[in-house]
Amino acid sequence: MQISTNKVVSLKYKLSNAQNNEQIEETNETNPLVFLFGVGAMIPDFENNLSGKSVGDTFDFQIAAQDAYGVHDAQNLAMIPSNIFHDENGNFDHVMFQVGAIIPMSDSEGNHLRGKILEITDENVKMDFNHPLAGTDLHFTGEILDIREATADEIDHGHVHGEHGHHH
Ligand SMILES: [Zn+2]
Repeated sequence: MQISTNKVVSLKYKLSNAQNNEQIEETNETNPLVFLFGVGAMIPDFENNLSGKSVGDTFDFQIAAQDAYGVHDAQNLAMIPSNIFHDENGNFDHVMFQVGAIIPMSDSEGNHLRGKILEITDENVKMDFNHPLAGTDLHFTGEILDIREATADEIDHGHVHGEHGHHH
């Protein structure tokens, strides 16, 4: 069986930064990545590089940042009034909010965002809402572990059920 639309694919991979070879994440046989192929759940170039492969095939490819999580966009930097970060006593919470911390926030429309604190002054906190991998060229290596037909329910829902998938 070959990887194509509506197949459930299990694979292990190692993801590293293509510029400096730093490892970003790794999956293995006991905790593989399992996904429904061809429904837009993954980065398109990730799927393009896997299409047609069989169990046991290995892969080694790169995806440029603009085709992965995007380039680092200065418009996603924001200055937030520091009183937003005050504790119940009206003091800035220096324990929770430190430079480098990733903070879950929501915007005026209620969308959930994660921002990284870049700088803290008395008036403002400068935050970066870019994806953590924005600006990073990705390098994937790995091996296809399993390919099966998706069930009608999985195709209907657009995701994998069972072990490593959605439970509902
Ligand atoms: Zn489902």
